[in-house]
Amino acid sequence: MSLAGKVAIVTGASRGIGAAIAEELAGAGAFVIGTATTQAGAEHISTKLGAQGAGYVLDVSSETSVEDFFAAIKDAHEAPLVLVNNAGITRDNIALRMKADEWDAVVNTNLTSIYRVSKAAMRAMTKARWGRIINVTSVVASIGNGGQSNYAAAKAGVEGYSRALASELGSRGVTVNCVAPGFIKTDMTDALSEDQTQGLLSRVPAGRLGEAAEVAALVVFLAGETAGYITGSTIHINGGLYMN
Ligand code: NAP
Repeated sequence: MSLAGKVAIVTGASRGIGAAIAEELAGAGAFVIGTATTQAGAEHISTKLGAQGAGYVLDVSSETSVEDFFAAIKDAHEAPLVLVNNAGITRDNIALRMKADEWDAVVNTNLTSIYRVSKAAMRAMTKARWGRIINVTSVVASIGNGGQSNYAAAKAGVEGYSRALASELGSRGVTVNCVAPGFIKTDMTDALSEDQTQGLLSRVPAGRLGEAAEVAALVVFLAGETAGYITGSTIHINGGLYMN
């Protein structure tokens, strides 16, 4: 199996895309450290992954929580050489009414968190001269979306950060890429009204929402040995909603 012997971190692995990524990475042989914001979520991850992984509590929006998390895994596991920054939130509002707390929450959880968690993980990767950082962004970073200026700004910021980091870490065998999903069936899209979903689907040539497992398969490919020459890229997966 392509990732046998590797330890991988997946943030936000309790449900949705992150849960599918954790499952697929484990299926490829990795030992997966999956995170949730609650103890119950972390225990659920441990149960699901069995011998192939463990669940931990992590709030990526908190510097202290990130420090505590890395301290907790340090002695318990080999150094993680694969990091999937998947955790994310939305707080939608039109720009004119966007509140400072909605802006701050989305930028902190979706963008600043990537700096925090990647910084804590990258030293072990450079030391090993091998690493994979995969950031889950969104098609919205490229096409924009009314009501999501905070989310679009944060996800576009992650893509810029990833290119700069890829430049810094390329010579150390560490790749940094983004996976930008279109509309995928998870709790995040379940929150949309039927009208909103139909409106979106009319713009998707594939005529359906994507599956979390389809995004996970792409992440597992980028995490593998054969993807070593792909870095600084954003790979889109959106059923044709956006073609670049
Ligand atoms: P989801 O079903 O809402 O799950 C979100 C995950 O993130 C959960 O595991 C949640 O943990 C975790 N999380 C939330 N806030 C966190 C925090 N402060 N610290 C750590 N973890 C936190 O979301 P999803 O649809 O799977 O989305 C996953 C990623 O894909 C996100 O980055 C999202 O922006 C991106 N994305 C999704 C879509 C889509 O259509 N679904 C499209 C494009 C991009 P708890 O369970 O503990 O709350």
